[in-house]
Amino acid sequence: MLNKLSIRDIDFKGKRVFCRVDFNVPLDDKNQITDDTRVRASMPTIRHIVNNGGRLILASHLGRPKGGPEAKFSLASVAPCLSQYLGKPVTMAPDCIGPDVKRMVEQMKDGDVILLENVRFHAGETKNDPGFAKALAENADIYVNNAFGTAHRAHASTEGVTHYLQPAAAGFLLEKEIKYLGQALAYPDHPFVAVIGGAKVSDKIAVIESLMEKVDTLIIGGGMAYTFLRAKGRPTGKSLVEEDRIGLAKELLQKAADKGVTLLLPQDHVVAAEFSPDAEHKICSDANFPADWMALDIGPATIATYNGALRNARMVVWNGPMGVFEFDAFAEGTMSVAKTLADSKARSIVGGGDSVAAVMKAGVESKMTHISTGGGASLEFLEGKVLPGIAALTDA
Ligand code: ADP
Ligand code: MG
Repeated sequence: MLNKLSIRDIDFKGKRVFCRVDFNVPLDDKNQITDDTRVRASMPTIRHIVNNGGRLILASHLGRPKGGPEAKFSLASVAPCLSQYLGKPVTMAPDCIGPDVKRMVEQMKDGDVILLENVRFHAGETKNDPGFAKALAENADIYVNNAFGTAHRAHASTEGVTHYLQPAAAGFLLEKEIKYLGQALAYPDHPFVAVIGGAKVSDKIAVIESLMEKVDTLIIGGGMAYTFLRAKGRPTGKSLVEEDRIGLAKELLQKAADKGVTLLLPQDHVVAAEFSPDAEHKICSDANFPADWMALDIGPATIATYNGALRNARMVVWNGPMGVFEFDAFAEGTMSVAKTLADSKARSIVGGGDSVAAVMKAGVESKMTHISTGGGASLEFLEGKVLPGIAALTDA
């Protein structure tokens, strides 16, 4: 599937390994990690390199610093957590390049671990500056990328560095993501159903177009459904409609019809008087859509129709919630998709930051075939794009 060098193929003994991980964890106002999922997801790769005698230099970004050091984005907050999972000390570096880091690396022994400071404390990271990439590469013999969540960005630590540091291999997490997402596109089981939702059509055009080539049924929900309903001439009240995408929605509807893809849109709605968690709300159909209200979730008849299609499926790709699931009153549509997928025998692949959060909220993450750790990256992968962080790795 992945024609790239894997960390399984490498002898790490005595080698200095620059490993790009995704430690972009959420922190509270006291710089404490509130969710360490990403650290845990990196552990198999980290353990593999350490147990095989590599000298591991870990690099990541955290948050969106403005190109210089900012205490609230320091990776020092992650070092204790990492050290605990690893069961050995992890040395925190004061920077990711420079003489101090060089000295620390020179003193490493086999199996030692250093965590570099946030690569985005240098503007050269997101600019993919060759000088910065070269400085990152300088202290190592082998490059490993395990950060699927940033693989769609050609940054210095994900792409640029590979021009100066080879071999460049995929870590286990990156490999797993590509395996599940790649197989879904290359060898789908049928009926293949895609569930696409979220706020805006404009975010999801490319993924709809790409999946339209593969699926039997396309289920559309969330805010973006209302641009499609408008394209069909239905009333949508004050729901989120992208006026400048109505024409495109018409084209997509036509394309689905031409290809024989069943495209499902909401037939009833939970509408609210305003956008707020405790807004007055009620159920309505297209026929009695109140002009001053906005749809914040799919209605019960729609849920029943969508569940029917999902129960029939042998493979489902899901990206984007069915409603404003962050508000309990408008979470039912999204929760029901999560639960139906959890109970189904279909291969279920979930991508997208908010969709994954919804699966967690429903408490059914262990029942999905694959939950992608990369929001934007999984979307671009499903769009059929080549991710620069993957393309840059050494061919197997
Ligand atoms: P993902 O992160 O899974 O790709 P998106 O970011 O595209 O999903 O969309 C998620 C957002 O869409 C959520 O914040 C949700 O509240 C919003 N949303 C869903 N349905 C509606 C709706 N009917 N009106 C407004 N916003 C919506
Ligand atoms: Mg999102």
